[in-house]
Amino acid sequence: MGEVDVVIQGGGIAGLALARSLLDGGLSVSVVECRSTLETGGAGILLQENALKALSCIGVSAGDLGGGHSIKRINLGTRDCPKAMSIAVKGRALGLPRYQLLNCLQAGVDSDCVALNTTIKAWTKLGDGRLNVELSDGGRRVCRVIVAADGAHSTLRERVQQHKTRYRETGQHCWRFLLDDIDHDSESYELQNGRSRLGFIPTAGRQLYVYLTESSLDEESAARRGWREVQDSINGFGSMGKVIAQRIDSETTFLRHPIIDGPVFMPVGPDIIFMGDAAHPMTPNLGQGAAMALEDAAILGPLLRTRDPECASKLFCRLRHRRVARLCSLSYWAGAVAHVSNPGLRRLRTLGLQCIPAAVVQYQQQVFNRSFYRQLKRMDCDLDTET
Ligand SMILES: Cc1cc2nc3c(=O)[nH]c(=O)nc-3n(C[C@H](O)[C@H](O)[C@H](O)COP(=O)(O)OP(=O)(O)OC[C@H]3O[C@@H](n4cnc5c(N)ncnc54)[C@H](O)[C@@H]3O)c2cc1C
Repeated sequence: MGEVDVVIQGGGIAGLALARSLLDGGLSVSVVECRSTLETGGAGILLQENALKALSCIGVSAGDLGGGHSIKRINLGTRDCPKAMSIAVKGRALGLPRYQLLNCLQAGVDSDCVALNTTIKAWTKLGDGRLNVELSDGGRRVCRVIVAADGAHSTLRERVQQHKTRYRETGQHCWRFLLDDIDHDSESYELQNGRSRLGFIPTAGRQLYVYLTESSLDEESAARRGWREVQDSINGFGSMGKVIAQRIDSETTFLRHPIIDGPVFMPVGPDIIFMGDAAHPMTPNLGQGAAMALEDAAILGPLLRTRDPECASKLFCRLRHRRVARLCSLSYWAGAVAHVSNPGLRRLRTLGLQCIPAAVVQYQQQVFNRSFYRQLKRMDCDLDTET
């Protein structure tokens, strides 16, 4: 495959969702992935209403996801008061293992469109405006535009901005894992206990996605923590924590990583468009990183199908920049507030969770979702008036 419309670097959630959308619209695509497989590890994911809407825009229904668990309520609280704030979501949120989402996205992308074990080495502009892309395995592609969907540590981003990305360290580290064969009540929880935060989200009838976040840890001491230390921390979360802790042993597979974010990078130009974590690396505190990658694909796909790359890039940035920048900032501060170390402030936080009426939070959620629906509408109107 030498000539394609779009070369996408990165076969993660953003890259595969965009590839799917472009292929459905009749464009040709080459996905360039540095790993040897698109199979993915990872733990779980919570898809909230906006993520499900974005998926439906790229032709994926909740049924296509091959399972997952419909969440009844999202609860925020503490060890002693797990439901300080309890929001009914009535099935408008789905928990599922991360690989299941990726498998579903991958199913819509022909394997001929994916180049594994390779990365973009260089690109030059041809006389007719197209790009000649050289790959590290000696392959070559000619395309109209490159899309950088290569995640929070995007190498394309570093090359275009000409410096290392300045990540913001939060001092928090996260351990994530899936637990099978465990009872749950179809509700998701996030509990705070001193310097730790424990979250668990049902991903199937008897499966939970669990994450533990600890603050005030440097990389070295976080890396030294083994399954016993994770178990000890989770044991500190009262009866709910104990049920989870007793299921952890040396066989449990954890993913560990520091929680970071970075500035939004969405330059307008005809050659490279940045999306997903490559454009807006955000902390996972609001569970919106994958959702933003999916929203990006739902907007960028139609733009690239109908516009020249420069115009698509301009509109994409205009539609998306504000929303993702606000969310990055909100997500960072949500993590900071969740990990306040002062006991008085912690009590104040719990009181705040108890006092804010659920209706207010639901309203805010609606406003947040509607702003994405408005973007879709604005894009549709814009496309209608120009065609
Ligand atoms: C603890 C935690 C919990 C989370 N929970 C949620 C949640 O509940 N809900 C939610 O919406 N989001 C969640 N997220 C966020 C979400 O996982 C990410 O934000 C999302 O996956 C971003 O997708 P992406 O495709 O942009 O990047 P990635 O998923 O990182 O994909 C990038 C891809 O590019 C490839 N790549 C990298 N460099 C190169 C290169 N040089 N050449 C070629 N290929 C390359 C990588 O191998 C990878 O396949 C969570 C994140 C964390 C850390």
